[in-house]
Amino acid sequence: MGFTDSQNSPVLPPIQDILPDEPLLLMGAGPVPVAPSVAKANSIIINHLGPTMSEVILGVRSLAQYVFQTESDKIIGVAGPASSAMEMTITNLLWPGRRALVIANGTFGERWVEVAQRVGADVTVLRKAQDIAPHTLSDVQKAYQDTNYDVLIAVHGETSTGVLLSDLPAIAQFAHRKGSLVIVDAVTTLGALQFDMDGWEIAGVVAGGQKALGSIPGISLVAFSEEAWHVIENRPASKLMPHWCLDARLAWRFWGEGTYHYTAPVPGVLSLYQALWLIKDEGLDNRAKRHIKSSKMLQNKLQALELQLFAPDSVRLPTVVSIRVPVGANGDHIRAHMREKHGIEISGAFGHNIIRVGQMSEQCRPERVERTVNALSEALRAVMKA
Ligand SMILES: *Cc1c(COP(=O)(O)O)cnc(C)c1O
Repeated sequence: MGFTDSQNSPVLPPIQDILPDEPLLLMGAGPVPVAPSVAKANSIIINHLGPTMSEVILGVRSLAQYVFQTESDKIIGVAGPASSAMEMTITNLLWPGRRALVIANGTFGERWVEVAQRVGADVTVLRKAQDIAPHTLSDVQKAYQDTNYDVLIAVHGETSTGVLLSDLPAIAQFAHRKGSLVIVDAVTTLGALQFDMDGWEIAGVVAGGQKALGSIPGISLVAFSEEAWHVIENRPASKLMPHWCLDARLAWRFWGEGTYHYTAPVPGVLSLYQALWLIKDEGLDNRAKRHIKSSKMLQNKLQALELQLFAPDSVRLPTVVSIRVPVGANGDHIRAHMREKHGIEISGAFGHNIIRVGQMSEQCRPERVERTVNALSEALRAVMKA
């Protein structure tokens, strides 16, 4: 006698039959294609505790210190998307009664607002009518005129619009010198563009896996400065930490002490190690140069097609290039055509009439940029005719 099924078993193909024979080239705003050595690391499972894992974890932390440019060793991996790393920083540094200023310039800035409000913090938001123009140092100085904040939160590269917060170093230093802990979302910048956690006086940095770091989705990194760590360790006992998985002090058991907190996503940790190792191997300067050069090449080719770029040159985020959908075309149709006829995936948008091409990690290879622009050019001709 077998099991008595309460439902008929579904008739479905194995996974290979669902996936296309040739994987799509991911040229959107993330996830990005990973290097072969990262893909290989992602296929391996080892014990989540023990000497090999301890060596990997120590390696992730010291590679990350280089990539984040920090002396602080308080670097913690989070099993989850970059959004869960956002929640880890917030829930450890904010609680009811703490004051936060969030610079919100698009979808991801607004996500920080929501995350901070959910822990009961007192949240003030800086917004602009026009989200193409990022906030400047003087906007932030005005916000500090007659008040102060425990925490300032900013997004370095706003993926939803392709706008770079170019004043970030000055803003962060200013806010820190006013006594704030500065938290930065560096998901689309860290590992691709210049980033200096200690030099810019940043207290908490969030990096996702699947974007600028060139790793897989679902495992993220948070770096805390020693100053931020002091706040975490001295959290008032009356302000109960509402999360167990995201409690940085508990997570340190695994990331700092090699003991059990929860079972880490082993292949994800190995992938992250390898992605960070590749960044170290290439060197931060070389890597930034490659990203700028490749993104410039892409931008020039797009402009040669008479496409208009959404973000002005002075604040254009090199890692996510946003393009206005030309009059008479439909962004979803362009993307569908590129996917179906050329095997290339680019991104749509949240709210704006734009399409977005990523320039992060393995997306910055000349032949990939070439292929993407050719496909986009052909797709434009096809959808304008239709
Ligand atoms: C993608 C992204 C996130 C969120 O990443 P998830 O892994 O989807 O949670 C946060 N911030 C920025 C700037 C992003 O581009």
